[in-house]
Amino acid sequence: MTYFSMEDQRLIFDGLPLDQIADRFGTPTYVYSAKALKEAFRAYDQAFAPVDHLICYAMKANSNLSILKLFAEQGAGFDIVSGGELRRALAVGAAPDKIVFSGVAKSVEEIKLALEVGVRCFNVESEAELERLDEIAGQLGKLAPISLRVNPDVDPKTHPYISTGLKDNKFGIAYADARRVYRKASGLQNLRIAGVDCHIGSQLTEIAPFEDALARLLNLHAELKEDGIQLHHLDLGGGVGIRYSDEEPPAVSAYAEAIMTQLRGMDLQLVLEPGRSLVGNAGLLLTRVEYIKPGEAKNFAIVDAGMNDLIRPALYEAWHDIVPVCSQPDTPARVYDVVGPVCESSDFLGKDRTLAIHQGDCLAVLSAGAYGQTMSSNYNTRPRAAEVLIEAGAARLIRSRESYEQLLENEKALLS
Ligand SMILES: *Cc1c(COP(=O)(O)O)cnc(C)c1O
Repeated sequence: MTYFSMEDQRLIFDGLPLDQIADRFGTPTYVYSAKALKEAFRAYDQAFAPVDHLICYAMKANSNLSILKLFAEQGAGFDIVSGGELRRALAVGAAPDKIVFSGVAKSVEEIKLALEVGVRCFNVESEAELERLDEIAGQLGKLAPISLRVNPDVDPKTHPYISTGLKDNKFGIAYADARRVYRKASGLQNLRIAGVDCHIGSQLTEIAPFEDALARLLNLHAELKEDGIQLHHLDLGGGVGIRYSDEEPPAVSAYAEAIMTQLRGMDLQLVLEPGRSLVGNAGLLLTRVEYIKPGEAKNFAIVDAGMNDLIRPALYEAWHDIVPVCSQPDTPARVYDVVGPVCESSDFLGKDRTLAIHQGDCLAVLSAGAYGQTMSSNYNTRPRAAEVLIEAGAARLIRSRESYEQLLENEKALLS
């Protein structure tokens, strides 16, 4: 928690008191630190400096335009998974030749746009996609750069919902089929084989699964050489996990050492697609206690942020630290379930938390920079939260709180 401190019993984030930000922008509001974002990016960039590398920020973790712009200015490329994300990258002036396009269901329209702007690579997830790409590239008179997303079948030892590299998973092409599919790709006229790709899962707290996946890709690389297929890059997918509570994820430097050791002597550019580890601990969600509700078995702190704002606890039983923004030494601490306003029993932000709080107090839900706002919804017709960026000692609104007019407009215009 190096970006946090306490001053006069107020929680300070990257130099600014959070109660002030809550008063100024309202709640719920996501707050990010530009310094933390930049330092997280720099950790990767410096750790991999000894090898030819490109860090493509996986923007599904947090695709706010101001954050994308910040990363682009640091030299990042982007990993996108939809035409919408491509439009976001283009909106901040990202270089198309630093964009890699992942995703299992790329539509004709999305592929056309990506070919027209000239993305660096399509990470192809099925043979059917390979054929579609070849056909569209042919129609447009383009050569589509591709890599196959290979499923190395290694267990990432993470939550099943965020593990993606196992056999029975919708993602990627089975390792056993990869060599054959590469040969097929090399026979298709409108494709150019650029590299190989994998993404085995998210929130990995060990290095070994990455090493196992890399070993399998390097083995495939050697086999493809025998077939006369030369890869230019190797994309190892998402980054390391982060600390939410007591996890001990590897340092980026240790991860980099392990990967670079294995890559030594290989004529391959390394591409990485970190998401969570670039933004997760650079952001938090501010929320206010609407009601304290003592119960027979449990006490509830009912707050103004819910699962529609931050779904990770409801979806993955994920843990986020929850801390009062102003500490109150005279208030007795009680054990609370911190729950939201949404009409679902799964609408909680944290369970069994010992907190000294009153109605009206503001709380910070920590480590909420990744897969927070991007996974938010309008369930219960709740407007999406505002987003604020702290930069050079000042807080700036980077996404306005959604208005009720915006929420209703697509239907209102069509009322009969
Ligand atoms: C989600 C995703 C990532 C990012 O993973 P993190 O664990 O957030 O670093 C990278 N690549 C692909 C293809 C993804 O789907």
